[in-house]
Amino acid sequence: ATTQPYTRDRVVELDGVTVAFHVQDGIRTVLRDIQLTVDAGEWLAVVGKNGSGKTTLARVLARVSPVSKGRVSIDRPVQMVFQNPDAQIVGETVFEDLCFGMENFDVPQTEMPRRAAQAAALAGLHVPLDTPVEQLSGGQKQRLCIASAIAVASDILVWDEPTSMIDPSGRRQILDTARDLRQQGFTIVWVTQRMEELAYADRVVALSEGRIAFVGSPGEFFYGPAADPTAPTGPANAHTASEENAAGPSPCEALGFDAPYVV
Ligand code: ADP
Repeated sequence: ATTQPYTRDRVVELDGVTVAFHVQDGIRTVLRDIQLTVDAGEWLAVVGKNGSGKTTLARVLARVSPVSKGRVSIDRPVQMVFQNPDAQIVGETVFEDLCFGMENFDVPQTEMPRRAAQAAALAGLHVPLDTPVEQLSGGQKQRLCIASAIAVASDILVWDEPTSMIDPSGRRQILDTARDLRQQGFTIVWVTQRMEELAYADRVVALSEGRIAFVGSPGEFFYGPAADPTAPTGPANAHTASEENAAGPSPCEALGFDAPYVV
């Protein structure tokens, strides 16, 4: 009953965003002239080879990276969920960890227990709040990081390759958690190098050398713009896929990724 309809409110807008860093031998431009919007409640996947600028884009979206040029408009808090939960956890117990984040966001003390419990439940972290962090499994630690992000009232979550360091069953759990959150109305930005995860996305943004090389549906990414973007991906479409290939490489192939056998 808490499921919200997909709305097209724009929650993030990047206009001509360029990010450059000073390096030893000059200036390194990592993102160039990025034009991108994110709609409330959508799942936007960000793909690209190593070094293409995905993490930097994620950091811009979460407002933790400065931009050298261009405009960033974001109308509400954005939180990041990283690869390595240990790097994010600061408390000794689940509750303490959730409180650290809430304190930074000036959540009243009296509000904290309720918010903490609600965030843990949404993130699928079903342990008592006084559980010591050191007793959590890797997957539970990741859920704690997700709960921390939710507890500060963020409904936009930017996940930076959250599945890159975990086994397939853990991966599945994280994906399912993100999918549940999306169904509750959360906006998901999902940075990944795993093509099979694009099946969860409403839209795919592909980066190449700091530029947006493609924006469109997963169907268009795998099979080319001529493919019906509303068609389900999967074995039934293998025929369509090979027809598209005959017409030229799909964006996925052009960017050097192997199209997965999506189920
Ligand atoms: P990806 O996540 O796609 O691997 P990143 O956004 O992490 O790409 O990095 C893109 C490029 O920018 C890389 O070559 C990286 O070395 C460079 N880079 C990222 N951050 C900095 C920084 N603070 N200073 C200099 N170079 C950086």
